[in-house]
Amino acid sequence: MHFPQQNNFSISVEKQGPAKVIKGRLPLRYGTYSEIRTPDYEFRFNLNGEIKFIRGLNTNWPHPAEQLKRTDGNDWVYYSVGDQSGEDGLISWMGEYYLPCLPYPSNPVWEVNYFADPNIMNAFAAWSQLYADLYGAKESRRYPRAQDLIIRILEHNEKVLHDRSLRLRDIVGEGVSVLPPDTRHVDYEIIPLMIADGCLYHCDFCCVKSQRSFGARSESNILDQIHQLKEFYGRNLENYNALFLGNHDALAARADVIHWTVCEADKAFRLSDTRPHTPMLFLFGSVDSLLRSTDELFDKIDQLPFYTFINIGFESADPSTLAVIGKSLSALKAREAFDKMNAINAAFTNIEITGNFLIGTTLSPTHYQTLEELLGSAPKHPKGKGAIYLSPIKDSPKKRELLPQFLEIKKHSRLPTYIYLIQRL
Ligand code: SF4
Repeated sequence: MHFPQQNNFSISVEKQGPAKVIKGRLPLRYGTYSEIRTPDYEFRFNLNGEIKFIRGLNTNWPHPAEQLKRTDGNDWVYYSVGDQSGEDGLISWMGEYYLPCLPYPSNPVWEVNYFADPNIMNAFAAWSQLYADLYGAKESRRYPRAQDLIIRILEHNEKVLHDRSLRLRDIVGEGVSVLPPDTRHVDYEIIPLMIADGCLYHCDFCCVKSQRSFGARSESNILDQIHQLKEFYGRNLENYNALFLGNHDALAARADVIHWTVCEADKAFRLSDTRPHTPMLFLFGSVDSLLRSTDELFDKIDQLPFYTFINIGFESADPSTLAVIGKSLSALKAREAFDKMNAINAAFTNIEITGNFLIGTTLSPTHYQTLEELLGSAPKHPKGKGAIYLSPIKDSPKKRELLPQFLEIKKHSRLPTYIYLIQRL
């Protein structure tokens, strides 16, 4: 339903985008949303009336496909199309047509400080102006369906949005400090559900770890999260098609915990029986949790009504580099786990294991030699399964200069290879 211009804006109460995220050069759109347009901006809201996207429409806006996105953690991320288009540009580094520019410190190869661009920052002023205009428009009772939307939007002011991000963190019991790189396939829109805390290694180089030792959550804790998450997302739950089992090494939880959790979550959120596309499941694993995982676990995961991505943190297969970054892992185990990753990708239809390795100007030549040898001799999957993500080590200087190095590794890799940008929820 579309209402014509009133107070210099037009309102579409409900619009239907594609049910799944489609990769392309156009601005990202998916799911069911509401839209308000002024002559200069397009504002999109989720089904709860929370602002999600802002895009400039006039010639001052940097690019028609660029936009600001507000995450469930209440961060405003700017989606840039970059300054290098074509197949060897952004798409070859990220596997996506845009680069998320984050408002907090991360490990980008390419810094874009959108706060310094007045053309982008003006969008926030326009959002405040629209909010004030909607306040006035709520008095007009001309369009009953648009009135409901206006009230929902007004109910979600900045304070409420901030409080909701804290509430989400409270429900799951800790922040999601990093999302698996594979969540790019759903534009990082996942329902988080913690099944375990801590991790197995507590590596020195890591900037996202928690100090806790590894421990699985109880069934009652998980059920409580599911119950509260369902209430938290409200009607907008229907726009989610992916579950993230947290936190840093969910694969180290027992097979029955993983299987039971996904079944309970699916029953509550109704992902597999109400969505037009197979829902996705994401989790992190480690070299040790992958090596310990039995065929029985993978059989169980494969039979779930989900397509599952398990992302493994290898970091390196070079013993001296593993020692330098303070990861208590042997290079032999890293290689065994790498072989197991490829074997599982070949054997299971609904499971895809991907891997992370570090890059950085401070890492030794032997790290790169072993990496190129490993990726250059990996078996190629016919469907391109098993992406490798190269994560710039956080303190590496000259990040943009990592790109030629990345492209060199990519050239030798038999597996799809991309850059991993550390993003929180
Ligand atoms: S890299 Fe992974 S295993 Fe190492 S400390 Fe960070 S979260 Fe834990």
